[in-house]
Amino acid sequence: MCAVMSRHHYRRAARSCVVTMKGVGVPDETFRPYADELLERNRAFAVGFPDADLQVAPTKNLAVVACMDSRMDIFALLGLGHGEAHVVRNAGGVVTDDVIRSVCLSQRLLGTREIVLVHHTDCGLQKVSPAEFTEELEADVGVKPVWSIEAFSDPYVDVQRSIKRLMLSPFISYKEHIRGFVYDVVDGLLHEVEAHED
Ligand SMILES: [Zn+2]
Repeated sequence: MCAVMSRHHYRRAARSCVVTMKGVGVPDETFRPYADELLERNRAFAVGFPDADLQVAPTKNLAVVACMDSRMDIFALLGLGHGEAHVVRNAGGVVTDDVIRSVCLSQRLLGTREIVLVHHTDCGLQKVSPAEFTEELEADVGVKPVWSIEAFSDPYVDVQRSIKRLMLSPFISYKEHIRGFVYDVVDGLLHEVEAHED
């Protein structure tokens, strides 16, 4: 099966990624899967495991909805510890039906009462044309996706849209404490977005 690769090899693989017009980091022929190395790292992580006594309900009663961007370590950038918050992530940090599902469960079963949205600058969803992407996808696989790409041009506007979706959802019971932020991937700072009043 696949051999465990050296760090050096992975650095080389990352450097050799090609950048296409539509995206970034599309791997070339040097790509190799990483799961075996992850397993090895996990064994090191679990030595003297300190989190065994954490409870399932987040102790800060907080749910964070964030983009999946690999540059954002949500716990680190918010100064959160393990067990303190739920973190729901997807491409863009968009409030989709499945995010509503997760936050609904988070609130009703596990006691969260505050929602924090984290989008960011230089998001992949700012670089994609939904029409083109959908057309190409359909041409490749033969069916149109039932989901929306949810692309946007301005992360601040998209945070406002996301807050509005939460406010409009009947499945979100606790709406008094919802705040949205844009994380700047260059300086690491969060910038608050005012909810749109209309
Ligand atoms: Zn993003």
